[in-house]
Amino acid sequence: GSVIGIIGGGQLGRMTALAAAELGYRVHVFTPEQNSPTEQVSAHVTHGAYDDQDAIETFGRSVDVVTFEFENVPAQTVRHLADLAPVRPSWECLAICQDRVREKTFCNELGIETAPWKAVSSVEDLKAAIAEIGAPSILKTTQLGYDGKGQVRIHADTDPANAWQDLGGGSAILEGFVDFKLEISVITARRKGGAMASFDVVENRHKDGILDKTIAPANIPADLAAKATAIGQKMAQAMNLVGLLAVEMFVTQDGYGKAHLLVNEMAPRPHNSGHWTQDGCKTSQFEQFVRAVADLPLGTTERHSDTVMLNLLGSHAELWHQQLSDPENKLHLYGKAEPRQGRKMGHINRLYPKGSQPKG
Ligand code: ATP
Ligand code: MG
Ligand code: MG
Repeated sequence: GSVIGIIGGGQLGRMTALAAAELGYRVHVFTPEQNSPTEQVSAHVTHGAYDDQDAIETFGRSVDVVTFEFENVPAQTVRHLADLAPVRPSWECLAICQDRVREKTFCNELGIETAPWKAVSSVEDLKAAIAEIGAPSILKTTQLGYDGKGQVRIHADTDPANAWQDLGGGSAILEGFVDFKLEISVITARRKGGAMASFDVVENRHKDGILDKTIAPANIPADLAAKATAIGQKMAQAMNLVGLLAVEMFVTQDGYGKAHLLVNEMAPRPHNSGHWTQDGCKTSQFEQFVRAVADLPLGTTERHSDTVMLNLLGSHAELWHQQLSDPENKLHLYGKAEPRQGRKMGHINRLYPKGSQPKG
């Protein structure tokens, strides 16, 4: 029996399911969403809420291994699943990555630098945090934020009460605003037993808080790329992660021109900044994810082409096929029925000769 259970029904699950099929696995998807991108390409789907203990249990009994394409599943739910099937990555990994306070605490305890931060759960906390961290800074919900949602910028003249209201209260952190030179990420696969392989470090450019473009490889010195890779591997090892760990980092430059790395956040799953590997590497992040989760040997992460990945956002899905009028574009669409502004509908990869350092 070789069925991989995927929790979550988005595009990351879809591309994982396609890679799983290539390696001879069937996929059973658990998602609350009808006609989700993942179920469109997989044999079996259960629709249910992530906190529906009974539905999750039935799902867990029907698969050989469970993984996630989405980390915001209640950690309790995941914990119960572990009695039914191997859960990769573990609920402990999810718990760290789904909460910004735990995530930053984890980094800092490993000696990995982040922006200065403070946990905030009231207007009073926020005032104290602003007094300590200063402005500009960013107030973020501790959980559930993505694509820059759940964030409020704090400036010197921002009224803390308004900012707290704009965020919607709850549990948050205040982070110092990082004056970064560029943003990079590294994706590491790790198998049970500890074998690891990382893809090349890439540069990520955002528009309105949403990833717009990934440039592979990042145009940074080799020693800095090696440092970033070492950070990603240290983190994957420290949480005993089985699967993929994507780590987003800021590159800053001090007054002497020396580069520093600060970890922004991480995700225990395939990541948008790894989509370039589908066309630029011998093994894609999705294949690598399936290999790690199914406990198969990892593939080579060798980059055969420099690659620029462009996200296709928004509301004109019928136009995306026009991307094919350029024969160099490799198009990947997610099958989303309801395009809306800022929604990720697909991406294109453009390949360049290895070593040509595309600027995007
Ligand atoms: P994702 O879609 O990557 O999961 P997210 O909603 O979880 O995004 P972040 O990655 O924390 O949010 O922030 C989105 C972007 O906002 C970052 O990639 C970066 O460009 C900018 N940003 C976030 N935090 C900071 C910071 N402390 N200083 C400067 N810029 C920041
Ligand atoms: Mg995030
Ligand atoms: Mg991010």
